Amino acid sequence: MRIILIGAPGSGKGTQAENIKQKYPIAHISTGDILRANVKAGTELGKNAKEYMESGKLVPDEVIIAMVKSRLQEPDCKDGFLLDGFPRTKTQAEALDLILKKLGILLDAVVQLDVDDETVIRRLTTRRVCKSCGEIYNVLFKPARIEGICDKCGGEVIQRNDDIESVIRNRLTVFHEQTAPLIDYYQSKDLLISVDAAGGKDVVLKLLEKMKDVGK
Ligand code: ADP
Ligand code: ZN
Repeated sequence: MRIILIGAPGSGKGTQAENIKQKYPIAHISTGDILRANVKAGTELGKNAKEYMESGKLVPDEVIIAMVKSRLQEPDCKDGFLLDGFPRTKTQAEALDLILKKLGILLDAVVQLDVDDETVIRRLTTRRVCKSCGEIYNVLFKPARIEGICDKCGGEVIQRNDDIESVIRNRLTVFHEQTAPLIDYYQSKDLLISVDAAGGKDVVLKLLEKMKDVGK
């Protein structure tokens, strides 16, 4: 199973991916997670990416493309992968086509998580995340039992520094301008499936289970 998840920030790509991963042994490739890990570790890549991320801008295409290219060649991608947060621009999509062609791999589907901007702003301004294990909380719907402390691992629960309203609005603008055109791009390749992001944490998993080639 080789799929791409496309959706605005806050559409729940990561949550859907978590659900899919529990059922299918495929590599979950989140470019946002890889970048955040690099920022945390203080690598050269992380130092370069930090400012873009904090202002809600995209990290330059060539950096991201090189990162994904090497990631796709790691052994755990042999049985399939789920790309979360990549591609995000037409240039990235075209580069991915080329990478996959060279590797002799075909995509099964591109799943678009449909959500409106106001829902995104509501979700992300109230989102919190564990600094240590990545568990997601929400101050309204799923608060940590003890404020600021992760139920799962005891780590510190914080607000991502790109989850403040002005930055969220930038991320949404970037999404509409640069990433939304990919919906047409994949539609024309007959790969696109749209689902309502409000359909539950496992809408994508359910959809994949219905597709015939799933698990291969
Ligand atoms: P979200 O989808 O909620 O905005 P991500 O965790 O996917 O969050 O990404 C966080 C940030 O990382 C983005 O705002 C951007 O700066 C950077 N980033 C992630 N993926 C890409 C990508 N494919 N191309 C460029 N920048 C990216
Ligand atoms: Zn935790």
